[in-house]
Amino acid sequence: MAIRTILTDKDKALRKTSREVTDFNPRLHMLLDDMNETLVGALGVGLAAPQVGILRRVAIIKHPETGELAEFINPTIIAQDGEQIFEEGCLSVPGYRGKTKRPAHVVVKAFDRDGKEFEMEGEEVIAVAMCHEIDHLNGKLYTDIVDGDLWEVED
Ligand code: ZN
Repeated sequence: MAIRTILTDKDKALRKTSREVTDFNPRLHMLLDDMNETLVGALGVGLAAPQVGILRRVAIIKHPETGELAEFINPTIIAQDGEQIFEEGCLSVPGYRGKTKRPAHVVVKAFDRDGKEFEMEGEEVIAVAMCHEIDHLNGKLYTDIVDGDLWEVED
């Protein structure tokens, strides 16, 4: 495994739409393992493949309290409801946070690293992370939907 460089929002790759994964092969597994190590090293909640320069529909989320890791290949949101205001940040926008409005509850359908389909529900920070990471796969950043100004934080 290896820690990969996380691109910042100045990099145009973050504005591109990522392509679907068609081969659930060792190369994908290596990408996922590297992304996991990169996320842990950066103390983040989620990471999408375009953030490490790979324009494929791959994202991971690590629950900030339980440490449970979820891997999402070709994820889509199939249901969402409610609303929450969240103080959101992004490893590609280091040192800042901003207020966003996100669904309170999200259901995502995706494939695991072996190509098996699954569904996962998320609330609170996980619902936010699901939306945030899927946005990355579509070239969007939370700063696009932020309400008001970003503020600086010490990461
Ligand atoms: Zn992000």
